Amino acid sequence: MKKHIVLLPGDGIGQEIIGSARAVLEEIAEKFGHTFTFETHAIGGTAVDEHGTPLPEETVTACKQADAVLLGAVGGPKWDDLPSHLRPEKGLLGIRKELGLFANLRPVKGFKKLLGSSPLKEELVEDSDLLIVRELTGGLYFGTPSERQENGQSVVDTLYYERHEIERIVDKAFQSARLRRNHLTSVDKANVLESSKLWREVVEEKKTDYPDVTVEHMLVDAAAMKLIQNPAQFDVIVTENMFGDILSDEASVLTGSLGMLPSASLRSDGVGLYEPVHGSAPDIAGQNIANPLAMILSTALMLRHSFGMDEEASCIEKAVEEVVDLGYHTKDLKITNGIETNTTNMTHKVVEYM
Ligand code: ATP
Ligand code: MG
Repeated sequence: MKKHIVLLPGDGIGQEIIGSARAVLEEIAEKFGHTFTFETHAIGGTAVDEHGTPLPEETVTACKQADAVLLGAVGGPKWDDLPSHLRPEKGLLGIRKELGLFANLRPVKGFKKLLGSSPLKEELVEDSDLLIVRELTGGLYFGTPSERQENGQSVVDTLYYERHEIERIVDKAFQSARLRRNHLTSVDKANVLESSKLWREVVEEKKTDYPDVTVEHMLVDAAAMKLIQNPAQFDVIVTENMFGDILSDEASVLTGSLGMLPSASLRSDGVGLYEPVHGSAPDIAGQNIANPLAMILSTALMLRHSFGMDEEASCIEKAVEEVVDLGYHTKDLKITNGIETNTTNMTHKVVEYM
């Protein structure tokens, strides 16, 4: 297959780990006989420095023409004091909007070697392997009005969803469950919120299209508790924007290693933007010590979700697992009797095991 990929290194360690993504993709191309072409563009603080805006027009144009986009990270103290329209994060929010990405996927899976760093008991997290599908374009973050009212003593935020917005994210979640263990937990607050009642209705309707997937509804407060009590009970979780924001941060601590978590932001036709969950880590930037595994695992998500290359994605994921199992790790991970190495060598190891 022939695919064109835009690379957006961004800021801080993004500049270093994007090279790791490219290295594993070149190995995949060679091993499976694909042709991947690459184009690099600026976003975030680096783009402010070079182009005077966190999201240059040429970056948007390139991303719109690409089959998929890989992003390192944006932000850093250097740009903290800029006016809000020049903040690096505006680049990321802007490109998600320009591309119409409405589904945020965050898989959370514990690596045996790393379970010692989890705040939870090892036996609780060792079997956890879940995927959070978060709606990204609606809900409280975008509803209007959202303002302090005239007297200054009252405020309003609006939780607004249209049926078609719920339908498309629920479809995405069912499709994701089919690629996994065929179980879907829909999280809402249907005992209180009108929006949640419509959400539940849509899930009930949609489930007849996916008879091979089992469905369960769960209130968000219960889901927050169960994620800690028994994370292994979950396969795919689907939920609205703010519940998803909160639950995905909660779930990300299960594994005890921020440097290991990938994410995908998608629209229906398969175009997507893939990035590590962690930020630009300015405190360690430029030292070749960043953990490249979240970035590398994000490229695996890209192969699976944008290109339908399941075998290729598994090849990367298995290699990462093996390398970690052997004890190789970057400075951020604590592994007893492990072998500490840097960004470049960690990447080489993954490529070698692929
Ligand atoms: P942002 O607002 O961009 O999310 P943040 O301050 O919340 O930034 P990170 O940039 O992710 O978070 O950094 C949090 C801590 O984790 C830092 O100490 C950073 O060095 C460390 N860290 C994050 N990602 C990595 C990585 N890939 N490898 C090593 N350390 C990392
Ligand atoms: Mg952060």
